[in-house]
Amino acid sequence: MHKLTLKQCSELLQQKKTSAVELAQDYLTAIQRDNPALNAYIDTNPDLTLAEARAADERLAKGSGSLLTGVPLAYKDNFCQQGWRASCSSKMLDNFISPYTATVVQNLMNEGMVTLGHTNLDEFAMGSTTESSYYGATRNPWQPEHVSGGSSGGSAAAVAARLAPAALGSDTGGSIRQPASHCGVTGIKPTYGTVSRFGVVAYASSFDQAGPMAQTAEDCALLLNVMAGFDPKDSTSLERDKEDYSRDLAKPLQGMKIGLPREYFGDGLDEEVRRRVQAAIELLRAQGVDFIDIELPHTELCIPAYYVLASAEASTNLSRFDGVRYGHRAADFDGLEEMYAKSRGEAFGEEVKRRIMIGTYVLSHGYYDAYYVKAQKLRRLLVNDFQAAFTRCDAILAPVAPTAAPLAGSIGDDPVKMYLSDIFTLSLNLAGLPGLSAPAGLTANGLPVGVQLIGNHFAEAKILNVAHQMQLHSDWHLKAPSI
Ligand code: GLN
Repeated sequence: MHKLTLKQCSELLQQKKTSAVELAQDYLTAIQRDNPALNAYIDTNPDLTLAEARAADERLAKGSGSLLTGVPLAYKDNFCQQGWRASCSSKMLDNFISPYTATVVQNLMNEGMVTLGHTNLDEFAMGSTTESSYYGATRNPWQPEHVSGGSSGGSAAAVAARLAPAALGSDTGGSIRQPASHCGVTGIKPTYGTVSRFGVVAYASSFDQAGPMAQTAEDCALLLNVMAGFDPKDSTSLERDKEDYSRDLAKPLQGMKIGLPREYFGDGLDEEVRRRVQAAIELLRAQGVDFIDIELPHTELCIPAYYVLASAEASTNLSRFDGVRYGHRAADFDGLEEMYAKSRGEAFGEEVKRRIMIGTYVLSHGYYDAYYVKAQKLRRLLVNDFQAAFTRCDAILAPVAPTAAPLAGSIGDDPVKMYLSDIFTLSLNLAGLPGLSAPAGLTANGLPVGVQLIGNHFAEAKILNVAHQMQLHSDWHLKAPSI
């Protein structure tokens, strides 16, 4: 049973062919068996899971459930959920049990979804490999010597290995789309402001968005329907009418115009990835999609702009972890200053310290104009590029990452190499646009490759439509690793 899609789980529950408890048990057994080799989950709590499942069964018995009642789900460990640890895979929060629940998690719990556990990530969601976790790296379920991608590598690996029908991730610069691509699952980052950030531990607040990861685009739409919505507790949450993200799934693609940005298909793109993306293009062309060449001329500036701005925001957001308000406190110190320095020095990993230092530097009085303000200007240029492109096409198709999942240890220790691998995902976060990654088949070595679909603001239903049609006409999303 634990290989089912979210929709199939829901159908079995509705038809009373299984119970929430039985389904949860099935997943917990699979997790116990397969997780030690993968390290996708870093926290499970069968007592809590089964209590939620029993409550869901009661609702289903009374007929007061919804489509998602009793369906199990995993959360990246930077989502706060009362009674569960929210470690952000950092020593800093190793013993932090959240006293409250993030709005997006609450929305899903209100439907009666059952928490399977919390998944691994790069420390504080900073990274592209899930190797900087305090709890050790997550392995790629397709080939364990490769990384799962990051920073939502645990969620992607859990869905790929069928240890959860779906999982939540967060995407600040690609952390849903890139691990989805590397693990062969579907994941969407919605338009900035669509999903509440309240209770999702902040990395870079003007970029962070939560989103679903699942086997299919259809499942992602079902989750997004519940996740999205105005939240007065998040000052950047948008007040908009509720949307049905599934509404266009069945629409034929005939006549749709999709742009191919020249800058995303240049020299740095691995040939295997290019082949898979091309296969997706051909499949969509056969459905009647019209492809046009477009330009996003400032693309290469996304890396410096993002790493200046995201680090600046991270340095401010992470100042709360000082051993007083939150987090690890050093055992011995001499005075307040030393307590701060030792606590932070002991509990943050290297990459997090690097971001805090970069961020503090670019925000400092003498360098603010030269770096921070300049990067904000680049951000505007990138937004303008997309707005010009969307006057010519309905959506944009591109690779997600320049390569398939790298070998463990090959880029995680080399920050510049790692930052460069984000080239195709960062621009969307700078511009607040929605983007998804959907499986597009395997490389010759058997590693999955995703294709990225980018929409204009609030065009989630459109890119989900394209992905769903792709999934109706291929079996790429059904392929699972044999573990
Ligand atoms: N790899 C990017 C970074 O390290 C993006 C991470 C993310 O989206 N959380 O910042």
